[in-house]
Amino acid sequence: MSFQDLLDPSPQKGVLILGRGKTGEAVFDFFQKRNVSAWVFDEAKPHSLVRLEDIPWGHLAFLVQSPGFPPSHPVCLQAHKKNLPILSDIDIFRQCTVEMRCVGVTGTNGKSTTTALIGHVLQQHFPKVFVGGNIGAPVLTLPLPDTLPPGSAPVYVLELSSFQLELANSLSLEAAVWTNLTEDHLTRHQTIEKYSAAKRKIFTDAKACFVGVDDAFSHDVYTQLKQQGRAVSSFSLAQGADYCVDVQGMLWGQTSQGARPIFSLAKHPYLSGCHNFQNMGLAYGVAKFFGLADKDIAEGIFSFRGLPHRLERCGTWNGIIFINDSKATNAASTLQALRSFPNDSLFLIAGGRPKSDGLTPAISAMHNVKKVFLIGEASERFAQELKEHSNIPFAFCPTLDRALHEAFLEAQRAAPPKGAPIILLSPACASFDQFSSFEERGDCFKNCVQNLLKKGGHNGAT
Ligand code: ADP
Repeated sequence: MSFQDLLDPSPQKGVLILGRGKTGEAVFDFFQKRNVSAWVFDEAKPHSLVRLEDIPWGHLAFLVQSPGFPPSHPVCLQAHKKNLPILSDIDIFRQCTVEMRCVGVTGTNGKSTTTALIGHVLQQHFPKVFVGGNIGAPVLTLPLPDTLPPGSAPVYVLELSSFQLELANSLSLEAAVWTNLTEDHLTRHQTIEKYSAAKRKIFTDAKACFVGVDDAFSHDVYTQLKQQGRAVSSFSLAQGADYCVDVQGMLWGQTSQGARPIFSLAKHPYLSGCHNFQNMGLAYGVAKFFGLADKDIAEGIFSFRGLPHRLERCGTWNGIIFINDSKATNAASTLQALRSFPNDSLFLIAGGRPKSDGLTPAISAMHNVKKVFLIGEASERFAQELKEHSNIPFAFCPTLDRALHEAFLEAQRAAPPKGAPIILLSPACASFDQFSSFEERGDCFKNCVQNLLKKGGHNGAT
């Protein structure tokens, strides 16, 4: 039975959805609205709609696996044995949007910012641009073409995680964007090679590819695509490439007459740090490919207000600045955060559930960190790494609130510093040991900052 047959109003068969998180719920609603029988299996959730032993195998046309559902689960193995296809929500979404232009963004860091930024810039030109995927709204909750007025021709911009790409079968993207690749999610993918292979699926049948080439893995990806004769553009902050950004923040593009300056990305009101030059450069490339003029792209880029929890300034007190970078869930992104403030005095709050490479990759950029306040499961390990690779003092703090208070006291005690004193939450860790998500961790930090400022008799939120 084909996918289209399954969407027929009187289907003989149904679909089994694996995982009842945000994605699973969206897939379930999608099939329910189309009168297709759907069962949901989720071992971890008592409200799962079907138990393992009750799965109606004989009635299934295919399965839809949520990105967080383990591929090695016996249900998946059984489905393979029975030759039942396992699809992803992205496959179903693309079946419903075949004619529509769709941009996909992946990478270890910068996916959400680049996705939201591309969506924002394209909105300068196209009336209907929808942003979703791994960023907020699952794809099947986005308005599908059959629910829009005829002739709307929406453009979709999707953030795609390695888990989603691993499961996806057909993407047919108009533009596929790759920001960078460093170690992350190795619990699921085991090796960086497998992690990279999952992510590389984004290029499978993409019309145009855009690759940030500043790490060795990403450079290889670019070289391979080039060798295959694919339409691919490279982006770099450090070496020759189709698009480069120099240290002053000027964006350059290669032409047949050599490099030409496009416009400066420096002084963006909300996107600070060199890593954001990469995100903005990639967004420029995609927007250019979609036919936008430089002036409109610049307007789009500079009117973007950034995303919460990414180097988000959330308060000031007597010159002390509080920054919430809760989204920094690995050392590579904490490294970028540290590099964003090379001339300031940093009081860093880090920790949570550590990733395989710990804090070490970020320590080289800690020359202006005055003290590290350690929280969560990573505390002992990070302390060890700091001792081994630096002389930076650290303190163990039982909670984020406590860490903030101690950092605040320390920042006030410190001798008048060079640059601004900054209290930076950039944990280099997942949040799950103490919070349900990085958003909850960031919101907790922002609330604590507000309480602290109120107690300090000064609400200095900016
Ligand atoms: P993702 O969705 O891939 O996790 P985000 O845009 O949410 O990426 O940014 C997450 C963190 O990664 C931010 O806090 C920032 O410090 C860092 N970051 C953002 N863009 C980049 C980039 N291009 N390169 C490296 N680090 C980045």
